[in-house]
Amino acid sequence: MQLLGIKVGNGLGLGKCVIIDSKLPNLNQEVCENKEEELKKVSNAIDEAIIDYQNIIATLEDEDLKSLTDFNKNVLISPSIKKDMENIINNKNCFGDVAIDHYFNEKIKQLENLDNKYLNERAKDVKDIRYKVLAKYYKIKEFNPNTLTEDVILVSHEMTANVLLTDNIAHIKGIVSELGGKTSHIGILTTSLGIPSVFGVDIKNLKNDELIFIDGNKGFVENELNNDKIKIIKDKIQVELELKKELDDIKEAKTTDGYIFDVCSNTGDLTELERLDSIPLDGVGLFRTEFLYLNKTTPPTEDYLFEVYKKFVEKLNHKQMIIRTLDIGGDKKCPYIDIKDEANPFLGYRAIRYCLDHKDFFKTSLRAILRASAFGNIAIMYPMISSIEEIRQANLILEETKEELTEENIKFNKDIKVGVMVEIPAIAAMADMVIPEVDFFSIGTNDLVQYTTAVDRGNTTISKLYQWFNPGVIRLIKNTIEATKKYDNKFVGMCGEMAADPLGIILLVGLGLDEFSVNMNMVKRTKKYISLLNKKETENFVKTLFDLRTVKEIEDKLNEFAKLKYGKYY
Ligand code: PEP
Ligand code: MG
Repeated sequence: MQLLGIKVGNGLGLGKCVIIDSKLPNLNQEVCENKEEELKKVSNAIDEAIIDYQNIIATLEDEDLKSLTDFNKNVLISPSIKKDMENIINNKNCFGDVAIDHYFNEKIKQLENLDNKYLNERAKDVKDIRYKVLAKYYKIKEFNPNTLTEDVILVSHEMTANVLLTDNIAHIKGIVSELGGKTSHIGILTTSLGIPSVFGVDIKNLKNDELIFIDGNKGFVENELNNDKIKIIKDKIQVELELKKELDDIKEAKTTDGYIFDVCSNTGDLTELERLDSIPLDGVGLFRTEFLYLNKTTPPTEDYLFEVYKKFVEKLNHKQMIIRTLDIGGDKKCPYIDIKDEANPFLGYRAIRYCLDHKDFFKTSLRAILRASAFGNIAIMYPMISSIEEIRQANLILEETKEELTEENIKFNKDIKVGVMVEIPAIAAMADMVIPEVDFFSIGTNDLVQYTTAVDRGNTTISKLYQWFNPGVIRLIKNTIEATKKYDNKFVGMCGEMAADPLGIILLVGLGLDEFSVNMNMVKRTKKYISLLNKKETENFVKTLFDLRTVKEIEDKLNEFAKLKYGKYY
């Protein structure tokens, strides 16, 4: 039986199903009479969790996992933790589990409010620590990955990253969870560790010890496998291994009829600088400037921004680097940027809206981008544009900044290209009106899907409704690409995750997207998939998708085509 879910970590895996019961009992909300005993239980739970983490650290060789586990341990050895728990128990007259829950929830909230990419991830770690301490408090026996002796696929209602803190990772062939999304902590970890993972799966039909198959490329889990099926799966896994090897030789994304597409990378993360040379990318299609702002208590200086941009663009050696101006707000907040709490931050005061109101602040980053443009091929991109007025206002500030640099005799590229993200439906709908105002578009499907379908991209409860192939979304994408095609000197890219999806690639090749910009890990795979397509044939096929009315019909048809064209690689 195939159980569908959301694809999170790429790859295929076959293994014995191990169901981890992650459900904790309900918190005891009664008034506590014996506070001393509760405090003792909490204290023991913390001590046992520390010992667990120490034991894990002792067995780990992977440095990243080691430092993650060390962070978890350090949270628990904080000198004030037990005192704080005691205060909560005394003030609230509550049981220990309520105190543990309250203590960690406060910490999680603090980290989330400081919001920056790094601290955001730490908030997710603290959720895992909360789980561990509560499990110790309730004396629930936790799953221990170190005891694994055979290949398994771990299944849980809500998987925590604790299960991956092991050097026994080779035995973990997949992760299946009912809750959680692409950006959950466990989701990010499985992606970076290369473990196939599928979330949003209804797990009630899976049984312990049965052999199951996980397809992280397509997003499903399959059980009740007979011998014939197992043989087919093993062959598929073999092909996947071959594909990984073949990817090492890939250079360009050339279709079978000789058309070459640009496949660039998204970045903004300084740790990725060194990898730029080792991946066959055709440029950077999205540099997320906000990553340089998030991890700080004060705003970065113009010189700092300039140095980082310069390092990246010099490494790119004349390949284009599109630098997006600050996309702050929404889920990305900085302590020093004054954005008040809002009922709907994704619809609120963010990105270009904030920058246009804070001209000097905006100019700091524009100056840095312009200065770096003297050292390579840089283009500027404005995020979250919802009107032509915003583009014109931003351009006026850009022109002012250029004049200032000229007066100061500072070099920059006077003809720097300026584009906008197409991530708000209004802009996609009026793409023909917007394109004369800019040099290029980059379609941001991560937000375009969210805003077009009114589905919060981070809300795991409704993640099944977050659909790239919603007919409304693909019409907006088509409209945007077609508007750009009327101009020889303009181009259109996509920097949302859809650009690396095997089915998304078919749609985009068929619509004539010029540039794919994907996660660095997906550059080679995206090139491979493009190179298996014939552009003309794909264009004709994609036309037929626009007669279909439901996501299922569209996806089924794309899947059929993908099987035919990608063959053994799909
Ligand atoms: C997008 O919205 O598709 C995008 C690439 O931007 P971000 O994910 O940073 O919002
Ligand atoms: Mg966006």
